[in-house]
Amino acid sequence: MHDTKTPMRSQAFRLLTIAAAGIGSFVLGLWGLRYGMGDQIAGLPAEAVGAIIASLCALAAAGSSLSFFAGVDESANYVFRETQVDKLTGLLGRAAMVGKVAEAAIATSRSGKPVFLIDIDIDRFKQINDAIGYSQGDELIKRISERLRANLPQGLDIGRIGAGEFAVLLADDAAGEPIDRRVETLIETLMKPYQLSTHLQSVNLSVGIVAMPMDGTDPILLLRRSNLALQHARASGIGNWAVFEPHMGQVADQRQWIESELHVAYKRGDFELHYQPQHDLSTGRVVGYEALIRWRHPERGMIPPMEFIPIAEETGMIVPIGEWVLRRACGDARLLPADCFVAVNISPVQFMAKDFLSLVRDVMRDSAIEPHRLELEVTETAMMQDRERAAAILKELSEMGLSVAVDDFGTGYSNLSYLIDFSFKKLKIDRSFVSRMEQDSSSGAVVSTIVGLSRALGVHTIAEGVETETQATLLRAAGCEVVQGFFFGKPKPLVIEQAAPALPERRVANLN
Ligand code: C2E
Ligand code: MG
Ligand code: MG
Repeated sequence: MHDTKTPMRSQAFRLLTIAAAGIGSFVLGLWGLRYGMGDQIAGLPAEAVGAIIASLCALAAAGSSLSFFAGVDESANYVFRETQVDKLTGLLGRAAMVGKVAEAAIATSRSGKPVFLIDIDIDRFKQINDAIGYSQGDELIKRISERLRANLPQGLDIGRIGAGEFAVLLADDAAGEPIDRRVETLIETLMKPYQLSTHLQSVNLSVGIVAMPMDGTDPILLLRRSNLALQHARASGIGNWAVFEPHMGQVADQRQWIESELHVAYKRGDFELHYQPQHDLSTGRVVGYEALIRWRHPERGMIPPMEFIPIAEETGMIVPIGEWVLRRACGDARLLPADCFVAVNISPVQFMAKDFLSLVRDVMRDSAIEPHRLELEVTETAMMQDRERAAAILKELSEMGLSVAVDDFGTGYSNLSYLIDFSFKKLKIDRSFVSRMEQDSSSGAVVSTIVGLSRALGVHTIAEGVETETQATLLRAAGCEVVQGFFFGKPKPLVIEQAAPALPERRVANLN
Protein backbone atom coordinates (compact mmCIF):
# COMPACT_ATOMS: atom_id res chain seq x y z
CA MET A 1 0.00 0.00 0.00
CA HIS A 2 1.37 3.44 -0.85
CA ASP A 3 1.51 6.14 1.83
CA THR A 4 1.46 9.88 1.41
CA LYS A 5 4.83 11.51 1.56
CA THR A 6 4.54 14.86 3.39
CA PRO A 7 8.02 16.36 3.64
CA MET A 8 6.62 19.64 4.99
CA ARG A 9 5.25 17.75 7.96
CA SER A 10 8.25 15.79 9.06
CA GLN A 11 8.47 14.56 12.64
CA ALA A 12 10.66 17.55 13.68
CA PHE A 13 8.28 19.98 12.03
CA ARG A 14 5.34 18.49 13.89
CA LEU A 15 7.08 18.62 17.30
CA LEU A 16 8.15 22.19 16.68
CA THR A 17 4.63 23.26 15.71
CA ILE A 18 3.00 21.50 18.64
CA ALA A 19 5.57 22.92 21.10
CA ALA A 20 5.23 26.42 19.63
CA ALA A 21 1.43 26.24 19.94
CA GLY A 22 1.74 25.07 23.53
CA ILE A 23 4.35 27.60 24.68
CA GLY A 24 2.57 30.42 22.79
CA SER A 25 -0.72 29.70 24.55
CA PHE A 26 1.04 29.39 27.91
CA VAL A 27 2.76 32.79 27.64
CA LEU A 28 -0.39 34.40 26.26
CA GLY A 29 -2.51 33.02 29.11
CA LEU A 30 -0.07 34.26 31.76
CA TRP A 31 0.21 37.67 30.29
CA GLY A 32 -3.61 38.01 29.88
CA LEU A 33 -4.26 37.08 33.49
CA ARG A 34 -1.69 39.38 34.93
CA TYR A 35 -2.93 42.21 32.84
CA GLY A 36 -6.70 41.71 33.43
CA MET A 37 -6.81 40.82 37.16
CA GLY A 38 -5.15 41.95 40.33
CA ASP A 39 -2.84 39.92 42.59
CA GLN A 40 -5.50 37.64 44.17
CA ILE A 41 -8.20 35.46 42.52
CA ALA A 42 -10.52 33.39 44.70
CA GLY A 43 -7.94 33.43 47.49
CA LEU A 44 -5.12 32.10 45.31
CA PRO A 45 -2.23 34.17 44.10
CA ALA A 46 -2.81 35.40 40.52
CA GLU A 47 0.40 33.59 39.34
CA ALA A 48 -0.90 30.24 40.53
CA VAL A 49 -4.30 30.65 38.87
CA GLY A 50 -2.56 31.95 35.75
CA ALA A 51 -0.23 28.98 35.69
CA ILE A 52 -3.17 26.51 35.95
CA ILE A 53 -5.21 28.18 33.20
CA ALA A 54 -2.17 28.65 30.95
CA SER A 55 -1.23 24.98 31.33
CA LEU A 56 -4.75 23.97 30.35
CA CYS A 57 -4.57 26.33 27.36
CA ALA A 58 -1.23 24.86 26.36
CA LEU A 59 -2.59 21.33 26.64
CA ALA A 60 -5.65 22.19 24.54
CA ALA A 61 -3.55 23.96 21.89
CA ALA A 62 -1.09 21.12 21.64
CA GLY A 63 -3.93 18.60 21.52
CA SER A 64 -5.70 20.44 18.75
CA SER A 65 -2.47 20.74 16.68
CA LEU A 66 -1.97 17.03 17.13
CA SER A 67 -5.46 16.16 16.02
CA PHE A 68 -5.23 18.67 13.18
CA PHE A 69 -2.19 16.89 11.79
CA ALA A 70 -3.69 13.46 12.32
CA GLY A 71 -6.87 14.61 10.59
CA VAL A 72 -4.97 16.14 7.69
CA ASP A 73 -2.89 13.01 7.27
CA GLU A 74 -5.94 10.80 7.42
CA SER A 75 -7.76 12.88 4.80
CA ALA A 76 -4.67 13.11 2.63
CA ASN A 77 -4.20 9.35 2.82
CA TYR A 78 -7.86 8.87 2.05
CA VAL A 79 -7.78 11.17 -0.97
CA PHE A 80 -4.54 9.53 -2.13
CA ARG A 81 -6.03 6.06 -1.81
CA GLU A 82 -9.19 7.11 -3.61
CA THR A 83 -7.50 8.88 -6.49
CA GLN A 84 -4.02 7.47 -6.81
CA VAL A 85 -4.16 3.86 -5.73
CA ASP A 86 -6.01 1.14 -7.58
CA LYS A 87 -8.50 -0.20 -5.03
CA LEU A 88 -8.54 -3.75 -6.30
CA THR A 89 -4.82 -4.39 -6.31
CA GLY A 90 -3.26 -1.69 -4.12
CA LEU A 91 -0.97 -0.80 -7.04
CA LEU A 92 -0.70 2.76 -8.34
CA GLY A 93 -3.68 3.88 -10.43
CA ARG A 94 -3.26 5.20 -13.95
CA ALA A 95 -3.02 8.90 -12.96
CA ALA A 96 -0.39 8.18 -10.30
CA MET A 97 1.57 6.03 -12.74
CA VAL A 98 1.58 8.84 -15.31
CA GLY A 99 3.05 11.06 -12.57
CA LYS A 100 5.73 8.46 -11.79
CA VAL A 101 6.61 8.13 -15.48
CA ALA A 102 6.98 11.94 -15.65
CA GLU A 103 9.27 11.95 -12.58
CA ALA A 104 11.35 9.09 -13.97
CA ALA A 105 11.60 10.80 -17.36
CA ILE A 106 12.96 13.99 -15.77
CA ALA A 107 15.42 12.05 -13.63
CA THR A 108 16.66 9.94 -16.52
CA SER A 109 17.12 12.92 -18.85
CA ARG A 110 19.32 14.52 -16.16
CA SER A 111 21.31 11.43 -15.25
CA GLY A 112 21.34 9.80 -18.70
CA LYS A 113 20.80 6.41 -17.04
CA PRO A 114 18.10 4.52 -18.96
CA VAL A 115 14.82 3.59 -17.33
CA PHE A 116 12.37 1.21 -18.99
CA LEU A 117 8.62 1.54 -18.98
CA ILE A 118 7.19 -1.95 -19.29
CA ASP A 119 3.57 -2.25 -20.37
CA ILE A 120 1.99 -5.66 -19.63
CA ASP A 121 -1.45 -6.47 -21.01
CA ILE A 122 -3.66 -9.53 -20.68
CA ASP A 123 -4.78 -10.64 -24.13
CA ARG A 124 -8.57 -10.38 -24.59
CA PHE A 125 -9.15 -9.56 -20.95
CA LYS A 126 -12.61 -8.17 -21.69
CA GLN A 127 -13.73 -11.46 -23.18
CA ILE A 128 -12.22 -13.47 -20.30
CA ASN A 129 -14.02 -11.19 -17.86
CA ASP A 130 -17.33 -11.63 -19.68
CA ALA A 131 -16.88 -15.39 -19.74
CA ILE A 132 -15.85 -16.00 -16.13
CA GLY A 133 -17.92 -13.23 -14.53
CA TYR A 134 -16.71 -9.98 -12.96
CA SER A 135 -15.98 -11.30 -9.47
CA GLN A 136 -13.72 -14.05 -10.86
CA GLY A 137 -12.25 -11.44 -13.22
CA ASP A 138 -11.40 -9.27 -10.21
CA GLU A 139 -9.87 -12.22 -8.42
CA LEU A 140 -7.75 -12.96 -11.47
CA ILE A 141 -6.47 -9.37 -11.58
CA LYS A 142 -5.60 -9.54 -7.88
CA ARG A 143 -3.69 -12.81 -8.30
CA ILE A 144 -1.79 -11.43 -11.30
CA SER A 145 -0.84 -8.23 -9.47
CA GLU A 146 0.36 -10.20 -6.43
CA ARG A 147 2.52 -12.40 -8.63
CA LEU A 148 3.80 -9.35 -10.50
CA ARG A 149 4.82 -7.65 -7.26
CA ALA A 150 6.40 -10.80 -5.88
CA ASN A 151 8.55 -11.24 -8.97
CA LEU A 152 9.98 -7.74 -9.18
CA PRO A 153 12.56 -6.03 -6.95
CA GLN A 154 10.99 -4.22 -4.00
CA GLY A 155 10.26 -0.53 -4.21
CA LEU A 156 9.57 -0.35 -7.95
CA ASP A 157 6.71 1.76 -9.22
CA ILE A 158 4.06 -0.65 -10.44
CA GLY A 159 0.67 0.54 -11.66
CA ARG A 160 -2.55 -0.86 -13.00
CA ILE A 161 -3.19 1.39 -15.95
CA GLY A 162 -6.13 -0.34 -17.60
CA ALA A 163 -8.64 -3.10 -16.84
CA GLY A 164 -6.16 -5.86 -17.62
CA GLU A 165 -3.06 -3.72 -18.12
CA PHE A 166 -0.10 -3.08 -15.81
CA ALA A 167 2.94 -0.82 -16.05
CA VAL A 168 6.31 -1.11 -14.36
CA LEU A 169 9.18 1.37 -14.19
CA LEU A 170 12.47 -0.47 -14.15
CA ALA A 171 15.84 1.25 -14.09
CA ASP A 172 18.47 -0.49 -16.19
CA ASP A 173 20.76 -0.94 -13.20
CA ALA A 174 17.91 -2.30 -11.02
CA ALA A 175 17.02 -5.04 -13.51
CA GLY A 176 19.86 -7.28 -12.26
CA GLU A 177 20.14 -8.95 -15.69
CA PRO A 178 19.61 -7.85 -19.30
CA ILE A 179 16.13 -6.39 -19.70
CA ASP A 180 15.07 -8.89 -22.38
CA ARG A 181 15.87 -11.86 -20.15
CA ARG A 182 14.16 -10.22 -17.19
CA VAL A 183 11.00 -9.58 -19.24
CA GLU A 184 10.98 -13.09 -20.68
CA THR A 185 11.18 -14.66 -17.22
CA LEU A 186 8.45 -12.33 -15.99
CA ILE A 187 6.12 -13.26 -18.86
CA GLU A 188 6.75 -16.95 -18.32
CA THR A 189 6.01 -16.64 -14.60
CA LEU A 190 2.90 -14.55 -15.08
CA MET A 191 1.50 -16.90 -17.72
CA LYS A 192 1.44 -19.89 -15.39
CA PRO A 193 -2.19 -20.76 -14.51
CA TYR A 194 -3.97 -18.97 -11.64
CA GLN A 195 -6.01 -20.87 -9.08
CA LEU A 196 -9.26 -18.91 -8.65
CA SER A 197 -11.96 -19.91 -6.19
CA THR A 198 -13.94 -21.67 -8.90
CA HIS A 199 -11.36 -22.88 -11.40
CA LEU A 200 -7.84 -22.77 -12.80
CA GLN A 201 -7.47 -19.86 -15.21
CA SER A 202 -4.72 -19.31 -17.78
CA VAL A 203 -3.93 -16.02 -19.47
CA ASN A 204 -1.78 -14.90 -22.35
CA LEU A 205 0.19 -11.72 -22.04
CA SER A 206 1.71 -9.23 -24.43
CA VAL A 207 4.42 -6.81 -23.35
CA GLY A 208 5.62 -3.51 -24.83
CA ILE A 209 8.77 -1.70 -23.71
CA VAL A 210 9.97 1.90 -24.15
CA ALA A 211 13.36 3.17 -23.04
CA MET A 212 13.62 6.59 -21.43
CA PRO A 213 15.01 9.08 -22.34
CA MET A 214 15.71 7.58 -25.80
CA ASP A 215 12.04 7.11 -26.77
CA GLY A 216 10.82 10.38 -25.27
CA THR A 217 10.18 12.14 -22.00
CA ASP A 218 6.49 13.05 -22.23
CA PRO A 219 4.62 10.52 -20.05
CA ILE A 220 1.52 10.31 -22.26
CA LEU A 221 3.63 9.84 -25.38
CA LEU A 222 5.72 7.21 -23.60
CA LEU A 223 2.62 5.27 -22.55
CA ARG A 224 1.26 5.48 -26.09
CA ARG A 225 4.55 4.17 -27.43
CA SER A 226 4.78 1.32 -24.94
CA ASN A 227 1.24 0.41 -25.96
CA LEU A 228 2.19 0.48 -29.65
CA ALA A 229 5.07 -1.89 -28.91
CA LEU A 230 2.62 -4.07 -27.01
CA GLN A 231 0.17 -4.23 -29.93
CA HIS A 232 3.08 -5.16 -32.14
CA ALA A 233 4.09 -7.95 -29.75
CA ARG A 234 0.50 -9.20 -29.62
CA ALA A 235 0.25 -9.37 -33.40
CA SER A 236 3.36 -11.54 -33.51
CA GLY A 237 2.04 -14.29 -31.23
CA ILE A 238 1.34 -15.46 -27.72
CA GLY A 239 3.44 -14.28 -24.77
CA ASN A 240 5.61 -12.00 -26.87
CA TRP A 241 7.31 -8.73 -26.05
CA ALA A 242 8.55 -5.91 -28.27
CA VAL A 243 10.62 -2.78 -27.82
CA PHE A 244 9.19 0.39 -29.35
CA GLU A 245 10.41 1.36 -32.81
CA PRO A 246 9.28 4.46 -34.72
CA HIS A 247 7.65 2.53 -37.62
CA MET A 248 5.12 1.07 -35.16
CA GLY A 249 3.04 4.26 -35.46
CA GLN A 250 2.03 3.31 -39.00
CA VAL A 251 0.99 -0.17 -37.90
CA ALA A 252 -1.20 1.48 -35.27
CA ASP A 253 -2.90 3.63 -37.91
CA GLN A 254 -3.68 0.51 -39.95
CA ARG A 255 -5.01 -1.19 -36.81
CA GLN A 256 -7.27 1.74 -36.05
CA TRP A 257 -8.54 1.74 -39.60
CA ILE A 258 -9.37 -1.97 -39.43
CA GLU A 259 -11.08 -1.54 -36.08
CA SER A 260 -13.37 1.19 -37.38
CA GLU A 261 -13.97 -0.49 -40.75
CA LEU A 262 -14.91 -3.95 -39.41
CA HIS A 263 -18.47 -2.90 -38.51
CA VAL A 264 -19.01 -1.39 -41.94
CA ALA A 265 -17.55 -4.46 -43.63
CA TYR A 266 -19.87 -6.75 -41.71
CA LYS A 267 -22.97 -4.70 -42.58
CA ARG A 268 -21.89 -4.25 -46.20
CA GLY A 269 -21.25 -7.98 -46.61
CA ASP A 270 -17.56 -7.77 -47.53
CA PHE A 271 -16.76 -11.21 -46.10
CA GLU A 272 -16.61 -14.41 -48.06
CA LEU A 273 -15.43 -17.95 -47.43
CA HIS A 274 -12.80 -19.86 -49.32
CA TYR A 275 -12.42 -23.60 -48.95
CA GLN A 276 -9.23 -25.65 -48.80
CA PRO A 277 -9.41 -29.43 -49.34
CA GLN A 278 -8.15 -32.01 -46.85
CA HIS A 279 -6.84 -35.22 -48.44
CA ASP A 280 -6.70 -38.69 -46.98
CA LEU A 281 -3.08 -39.79 -47.53
CA SER A 282 -3.85 -43.49 -47.97
CA THR A 283 -6.70 -43.15 -50.50
CA GLY A 284 -5.93 -39.71 -51.98
CA ARG A 285 -9.59 -38.85 -51.54
CA VAL A 286 -10.83 -35.41 -50.38
CA VAL A 287 -12.48 -35.95 -47.03
CA GLY A 288 -13.29 -32.41 -46.00
CA TYR A 289 -12.83 -28.71 -46.62
CA GLU A 290 -11.64 -26.03 -44.23
CA ALA A 291 -13.59 -22.78 -44.46
CA LEU A 292 -11.26 -19.77 -44.35
CA ILE A 293 -12.64 -16.27 -44.14
CA ARG A 294 -11.66 -13.58 -46.66
CA TRP A 295 -12.31 -9.84 -46.43
CA ARG A 296 -12.68 -8.24 -49.84
CA HIS A 297 -12.60 -4.51 -49.16
CA PRO A 298 -14.10 -2.42 -52.02
CA GLU A 299 -11.09 -0.04 -52.10
CA ARG A 300 -8.23 -1.85 -50.41
CA GLY A 301 -8.81 -5.31 -51.89
CA MET A 302 -8.14 -8.52 -49.95
CA ILE A 303 -7.23 -8.15 -46.29
CA PRO A 304 -5.78 -11.37 -44.81
CA PRO A 305 -7.48 -12.93 -41.74
CA MET A 306 -4.31 -12.68 -39.65
CA GLU A 307 -4.63 -8.87 -39.95
CA PHE A 308 -8.23 -8.52 -38.90
CA ILE A 309 -9.18 -11.60 -36.84
CA PRO A 310 -7.04 -10.59 -33.79
CA ILE A 311 -8.61 -7.11 -33.89
CA ALA A 312 -12.11 -8.56 -34.29
CA GLU A 313 -11.36 -10.73 -31.25
CA GLU A 314 -10.26 -7.79 -29.15
CA THR A 315 -13.22 -5.63 -30.09
CA GLY A 316 -15.79 -8.44 -29.84
CA MET A 317 -16.70 -8.16 -33.57
CA ILE A 318 -15.61 -11.79 -33.90
CA VAL A 319 -18.90 -12.84 -32.32
CA PRO A 320 -21.18 -11.69 -35.18
CA ILE A 321 -18.50 -12.43 -37.80
CA GLY A 322 -17.93 -15.92 -36.36
CA GLU A 323 -21.65 -16.60 -36.37
CA TRP A 324 -21.84 -15.54 -40.00
CA VAL A 325 -18.95 -17.92 -40.85
CA LEU A 326 -20.60 -20.83 -39.06
CA ARG A 327 -23.98 -20.25 -40.73
CA ARG A 328 -22.49 -19.76 -44.18
CA ALA A 329 -20.20 -22.79 -43.93
CA CYS A 330 -23.05 -25.03 -42.76
CA GLY A 331 -25.20 -23.70 -45.60
CA ASP A 332 -22.39 -24.31 -48.10
CA ALA A 333 -21.94 -27.88 -46.81
CA ARG A 334 -25.09 -28.78 -48.74
CA LEU A 335 -23.22 -27.86 -51.94
CA LEU A 336 -20.16 -29.94 -51.10
CA PRO A 337 -19.95 -33.68 -51.84
CA ALA A 338 -22.13 -35.53 -49.33
CA ASP A 339 -19.22 -37.58 -47.97
CA CYS A 340 -17.19 -34.46 -47.11
CA PHE A 341 -17.34 -32.43 -43.93
CA VAL A 342 -16.77 -28.72 -43.54
CA ALA A 343 -14.23 -27.51 -40.95
CA VAL A 344 -14.90 -24.13 -39.33
CA ASN A 345 -12.36 -22.16 -37.29
CA ILE A 346 -13.71 -21.09 -33.93
CA SER A 347 -12.02 -18.19 -32.19
CA PRO A 348 -11.21 -18.57 -28.46
CA VAL A 349 -13.55 -15.63 -27.83
CA GLN A 350 -16.46 -17.42 -29.54
CA PHE A 351 -15.63 -20.72 -27.90
CA MET A 352 -15.73 -19.25 -24.41
CA ALA A 353 -18.77 -17.02 -25.04
CA LYS A 354 -21.72 -17.95 -22.81
CA ASP A 355 -24.11 -18.85 -25.62
CA PHE A 356 -21.67 -20.69 -27.89
CA LEU A 357 -23.36 -24.07 -27.50
CA SER A 358 -26.83 -22.69 -28.16
CA LEU A 359 -25.50 -20.93 -31.26
CA VAL A 360 -24.11 -24.22 -32.57
CA ARG A 361 -27.45 -25.94 -31.88
CA ASP A 362 -29.38 -23.15 -33.64
CA VAL A 363 -27.14 -23.29 -36.70
CA MET A 364 -27.34 -27.07 -36.88
CA ARG A 365 -31.12 -26.91 -36.73
CA ASP A 366 -31.47 -24.04 -39.25
CA SER A 367 -29.07 -25.57 -41.77
CA ALA A 368 -30.32 -29.13 -41.18
CA ILE A 369 -26.72 -30.33 -41.57
CA GLU A 370 -25.90 -33.79 -40.26
CA PRO A 371 -23.64 -33.45 -37.22
CA HIS A 372 -20.82 -35.60 -38.63
CA ARG A 373 -20.49 -33.15 -41.53
CA LEU A 374 -19.39 -30.31 -39.28
CA GLU A 375 -15.94 -30.08 -37.70
CA LEU A 376 -14.94 -27.24 -35.39
CA GLU A 377 -11.30 -26.19 -35.28
CA VAL A 378 -10.44 -24.93 -31.83
CA THR A 379 -6.94 -23.92 -30.72
CA GLU A 380 -5.19 -25.20 -27.62
CA THR A 381 -5.16 -21.64 -26.30
CA ALA A 382 -8.94 -21.52 -26.35
CA MET A 383 -9.18 -24.77 -24.41
CA MET A 384 -6.63 -23.77 -21.81
CA GLN A 385 -8.29 -20.54 -20.69
CA ASP A 386 -10.73 -22.27 -18.40
CA ARG A 387 -10.07 -26.00 -18.61
CA GLU A 388 -13.15 -27.19 -16.76
CA ARG A 389 -15.55 -25.11 -18.83
CA ALA A 390 -13.71 -26.04 -22.02
CA ALA A 391 -13.94 -29.73 -21.10
CA ALA A 392 -17.71 -29.39 -20.51
CA ILE A 393 -18.23 -27.60 -23.85
CA LEU A 394 -16.17 -30.20 -25.72
CA LYS A 395 -18.10 -33.03 -24.09
CA GLU A 396 -21.40 -31.46 -25.13
CA LEU A 397 -20.17 -30.94 -28.70
CA SER A 398 -19.08 -34.55 -28.97
CA GLU A 399 -22.44 -35.70 -27.57
CA MET A 400 -24.08 -33.66 -30.31
CA GLY A 401 -22.07 -35.78 -32.78
CA LEU A 402 -19.76 -32.99 -33.95
CA SER A 403 -16.07 -33.46 -34.51
CA VAL A 404 -13.53 -31.12 -32.91
CA ALA A 405 -9.98 -30.69 -34.20
CA VAL A 406 -7.27 -29.10 -32.05
CA ASP A 407 -5.85 -26.50 -34.47
CA ASP A 408 -2.20 -25.33 -34.57
CA PHE A 409 -1.31 -28.23 -32.30
CA GLY A 410 2.14 -28.08 -30.75
CA THR A 411 2.42 -24.30 -30.62
CA GLY A 412 0.60 -23.73 -27.34
CA TYR A 413 1.46 -25.49 -24.13
CA SER A 414 4.15 -28.01 -23.43
CA ASN A 415 2.19 -29.85 -20.75
CA LEU A 416 0.09 -32.29 -22.71
CA SER A 417 -1.48 -34.14 -19.80
CA TYR A 418 -4.59 -31.95 -20.02
CA LEU A 419 -5.49 -33.57 -23.35
CA ILE A 420 -6.89 -36.60 -21.54
CA ASP A 421 -9.69 -34.48 -20.05
CA PHE A 422 -10.87 -33.16 -23.39
CA SER A 423 -13.16 -34.82 -25.93
CA PHE A 424 -11.92 -34.17 -29.45
CA LYS A 425 -11.45 -36.20 -32.61
CA LYS A 426 -8.32 -34.80 -34.24
CA LEU A 427 -4.97 -33.18 -33.65
CA LYS A 428 -4.04 -30.74 -36.39
CA ILE A 429 -0.24 -30.61 -36.54
CA ASP A 430 0.90 -27.02 -36.94
CA ARG A 431 2.43 -25.81 -40.18
CA SER A 432 5.65 -24.75 -38.43
CA PHE A 433 6.61 -28.43 -37.85
CA VAL A 434 5.65 -29.49 -41.36
CA SER A 435 7.64 -26.71 -43.01
CA ARG A 436 10.81 -27.65 -41.09
CA MET A 437 10.50 -31.41 -41.57
CA GLU A 438 12.74 -31.56 -44.66
CA GLN A 439 15.68 -29.69 -43.12
CA ASP A 440 15.40 -30.46 -39.48
CA SER A 441 15.07 -33.97 -38.16
CA SER A 442 13.80 -32.84 -34.75
CA SER A 443 10.63 -31.49 -36.43
CA GLY A 444 10.13 -34.93 -37.94
CA ALA A 445 10.55 -36.42 -34.47
CA VAL A 446 7.94 -34.00 -33.11
CA VAL A 447 5.51 -35.03 -35.85
CA SER A 448 6.07 -38.74 -35.12
CA THR A 449 5.58 -38.10 -31.41
CA ILE A 450 2.31 -36.25 -32.05
CA VAL A 451 1.10 -39.12 -34.23
CA GLY A 452 2.05 -41.58 -31.46
CA LEU A 453 0.31 -39.44 -28.88
CA SER A 454 -2.85 -39.22 -30.99
CA ARG A 455 -2.90 -43.01 -31.35
CA ALA A 456 -2.57 -43.38 -27.60
CA LEU A 457 -5.48 -40.99 -27.17
CA GLY A 458 -7.50 -42.74 -29.88
CA VAL A 459 -7.79 -39.64 -32.09
CA HIS A 460 -6.84 -38.84 -35.70
CA THR A 461 -4.09 -36.61 -37.09
CA ILE A 462 -4.06 -34.08 -39.87
CA ALA A 463 -1.04 -32.03 -40.96
CA GLU A 464 -1.49 -28.49 -42.26
CA GLY A 465 0.68 -26.37 -44.55
CA VAL A 466 1.96 -29.23 -46.73
CA GLU A 467 3.75 -27.54 -49.61
CA THR A 468 5.94 -30.25 -51.14
CA GLU A 469 5.76 -33.87 -52.15
CA THR A 470 8.69 -34.68 -49.83
CA GLN A 471 6.75 -33.30 -46.88
CA ALA A 472 3.77 -35.46 -47.85
CA THR A 473 6.04 -38.53 -48.06
CA LEU A 474 7.62 -37.81 -44.68
CA LEU A 475 4.17 -37.30 -43.14
CA ARG A 476 2.92 -40.57 -44.56
CA ALA A 477 6.01 -42.31 -43.15
CA ALA A 478 5.34 -40.72 -39.77
CA GLY A 479 1.85 -42.20 -39.80
CA CYS A 480 -0.13 -39.02 -40.40
CA GLU A 481 -3.54 -39.77 -41.90
CA VAL A 482 -4.84 -36.58 -43.53
CA VAL A 483 -3.03 -33.61 -45.08
CA GLN A 484 -3.91 -30.10 -46.15
CA GLY A 485 -1.73 -27.57 -47.90
CA PHE A 486 -0.86 -25.72 -51.09
CA PHE A 487 0.65 -28.89 -52.53
CA PHE A 488 -2.80 -30.51 -52.53
CA GLY A 489 -4.96 -27.45 -53.12
CA LYS A 490 -5.11 -23.78 -52.21
CA PRO A 491 -8.13 -22.20 -50.52
CA LYS A 492 -10.64 -21.26 -53.24
CA PRO A 493 -14.12 -19.79 -53.40
CA LEU A 494 -16.95 -22.22 -53.86
CA VAL A 495 -17.84 -22.12 -57.54
CA ILE A 496 -21.16 -23.69 -58.35
CA GLU A 497 -21.41 -25.24 -61.75
CA GLN A 498 -24.45 -23.95 -63.53
CA ALA A 499 -26.69 -26.97 -63.52
CA ALA A 500 -29.17 -27.75 -66.23
CA PRO A 501 -32.72 -27.29 -64.87
CA ALA A 502 -33.53 -30.92 -65.57
CA LEU A 503 -30.60 -32.18 -63.49
CA PRO A 504 -30.62 -30.13 -60.30
CA GLU A 505 -28.81 -32.89 -58.42
CA ARG A 506 -25.69 -32.23 -60.49
CA ARG A 507 -25.19 -28.91 -58.69
CA VAL A 508 -21.89 -29.78 -57.06
CA ALA A 509 -19.04 -27.76 -55.77
CA ASN A 510 -16.09 -27.23 -58.05
CA LEU A 511 -13.13 -26.50 -55.87
CA ASN A 512 -10.16 -28.04 -57.57
P1 C2E B 1 -5.51 -21.83 -39.68
O1 C2E B 1 -6.87 -22.20 -39.20
O2 C2E B 1 -4.36 -22.58 -39.12
O3 C2E B 1 -5.58 -21.94 -41.26
C1 C2E B 1 -4.56 -22.36 -42.05
C2 C2E B 1 -3.87 -21.21 -42.72
O4 C2E B 1 -2.75 -21.68 -43.44
C3 C2E B 1 -4.75 -20.50 -43.73
O5 C2E B 1 -4.33 -19.14 -43.75
C4 C2E B 1 -4.34 -21.16 -45.03
O6 C2E B 1 -4.59 -20.37 -46.17
C5 C2E B 1 -2.87 -21.32 -44.79
N1 C2E B 1 -2.31 -22.41 -45.58
C6 C2E B 1 -2.91 -23.53 -45.97
N2 C2E B 1 -2.05 -24.33 -46.63
C7 C2E B 1 -0.86 -23.69 -46.63
C8 C2E B 1 0.43 -24.00 -47.16
O7 C2E B 1 0.66 -25.04 -47.75
N3 C2E B 1 1.42 -23.09 -46.93
C9 C2E B 1 1.20 -21.93 -46.26
N4 C2E B 1 2.23 -21.08 -46.12
N5 C2E B 1 0.00 -21.60 -45.76
C10 C2E B 1 -1.02 -22.47 -45.94
P2 C2E B 1 -5.39 -17.98 -43.75
O8 C2E B 1 -6.57 -18.32 -44.59
O9 C2E B 1 -4.64 -16.74 -44.04
O10 C2E B 1 -5.88 -18.00 -42.26
C11 C2E B 1 -5.01 -17.72 -41.24
C12 C2E B 1 -5.64 -17.96 -39.90
O11 C2E B 1 -6.74 -17.09 -39.71
C13 C2E B 1 -6.24 -19.36 -39.75
O12 C2E B 1 -5.22 -20.27 -39.41
C14 C2E B 1 -7.21 -19.14 -38.64
O13 C2E B 1 -6.56 -19.14 -37.41
C15 C2E B 1 -7.70 -17.74 -38.92
N6 C2E B 1 -8.98 -17.81 -39.62
C16 C2E B 1 -9.24 -17.97 -40.91
N7 C2E B 1 -10.56 -18.00 -41.15
C17 C2E B 1 -11.16 -17.88 -39.95
C18 C2E B 1 -12.53 -17.85 -39.50
O14 C2E B 1 -13.47 -17.99 -40.27
N8 C2E B 1 -12.75 -17.69 -38.17
C19 C2E B 1 -11.71 -17.57 -37.29
N9 C2E B 1 -12.01 -17.41 -35.98
N10 C2E B 1 -10.42 -17.60 -37.66
C20 C2E B 1 -10.16 -17.76 -38.98
MG1 MG C 1 -7.78 -23.85 -38.95
MG1 MG D 1 -3.88 -24.01 -38.14
